[in-house]
Amino acid sequence: MTEKEVLDFDTVILGGGPAGMSAAIYTGRGELKTAIIDISMFGGQPSNYLELENYPGFGLIGGFELMEKFEAHADKFGVEKFSLQEILDINLNGEIKTIETGDYIFKSKTIIIATGAKPRKLGIKGEQEFLSRGVSYCAVCDGAFYKDKVVAVIGGGNAAVEEGAYLTKFAKKVYIIHRRDTLRADKIAQQRAFQNEKVEFIWDSVPVEIQGDKLVEKLIIKNVKTDKFTELEVNGVFPYIGFSPNVEQLDGKIEQDEQGFICCNANLETNIDGVFVAGDVRVTPLRQVVTAAADGAVAGCAAVKYLENQKVRV
Ligand code: NAP
Repeated sequence: MTEKEVLDFDTVILGGGPAGMSAAIYTGRGELKTAIIDISMFGGQPSNYLELENYPGFGLIGGFELMEKFEAHADKFGVEKFSLQEILDINLNGEIKTIETGDYIFKSKTIIIATGAKPRKLGIKGEQEFLSRGVSYCAVCDGAFYKDKVVAVIGGGNAAVEEGAYLTKFAKKVYIIHRRDTLRADKIAQQRAFQNEKVEFIWDSVPVEIQGDKLVEKLIIKNVKTDKFTELEVNGVFPYIGFSPNVEQLDGKIEQDEQGFICCNANLETNIDGVFVAGDVRVTPLRQVVTAAADGAVAGCAAVKYLENQKVRV
C-alpha cells in the first residue's frame, strides 16, 4: 500500500463552491498557506444553475461562468487546490487538525467548513429506484431529456418555481406540486411561472409514490386537505424541496442544529477552536450565492485573525 502524502497548511477549506472560493480569496490574500479541497470538481451548486440574476454587479450571469471567475480569483492568491478528494476522516480538535482524503493527509492550524448542501429527498416509494430514469434533482443537467414530455416539479420555493419554468423550454407541460396553497418563492419568480402557459400548479398536494416500468410513468399525489389521491401521467419528477447539509465525517463532531446544519456565532466560529463555517452548510436564514460569498469573507478573515492571535499568545 502506498503511503499518503502529508501536507501542512495554515488553513484547509472544505468545499470549493462560492463560500469556499471566497474564503480562499481572503485567506490567500491574508497570506495564509491555504488549501481548498472538494469531493468533486470546483464550483459547487451554482455550477449547475443555468443563470443567476441576483448576484450583485452582474445582472445576469451563467452559474458555471460565475464560479469560474471565483476560482480564477482564488488562483491569484496562490491557493492550492485539490479536487476529487473524498474526505475519509477528520480530526477537528487540538492545535493541528487533520483531514484524511483518498490521496492525502492534510494537517492544518485552521479549518473552514464550506461543504454546502445537497437536495433533500422526498423519501417516497420509487424515488431511489427511478433515479436517473425519470427522477432528477437538476433541471439544468437533465431538462433536455424531456423534450415534448410531461414533468412534475415538487416544491414551492425559488428553486421549484424557477427550475419548473426552465423545464418548459423542453417539456410540453410542467406540473408544480406544492404542499400548501401559497408559494414560498419570491414574487418575481411566482409571476413568471403564473404567466407561463405550460405550467400548471397543483396546490395542497404531496407526492406519495413514483411508478413506472423501466422509466417513470406515473406520479401518485395526495391532496392534504381532502385526502384524495390522484394519478398523474408524467415522464419526469424533479424534487426541489430544499437542502440538507453536507456533513459526512463531521456529524456529531461539531455543534449542529436538529437538521444537521452547523451552528456558529456572528464571526462564523464554531464551537471548536480554529474551526470556522461558511455558506449553505451553516445555520443561516438565507442560502444564496451572495450570502455564501459573504460568509467566505467573514470566515476567511476570522481564520486570519485567529492565527495572528495565536502568534501573540506563543
Ligand atoms: P426552500 O426555499 O426551502 O423551499 C423548499 C420548498 O419545498 C418549500 O416550498 C417547502 O414547502 C417545500 N417542501 C419542503 N419539504 C417538503 C416535503 N417533504 N414535501 C413537499 N414539499 C416540501 O428551498 P429552495 O427552493 O431549494 O431554495 C433554497 C434557498 O436557495 C432559498 O434561500 C432560496 O431563496 C434560494 N434560491 C434562490 C434562487 C434565486 O434567488 N434565484 C434560486 C433557487 C434557490 P413550504 O413552503 O410549505 O415550507
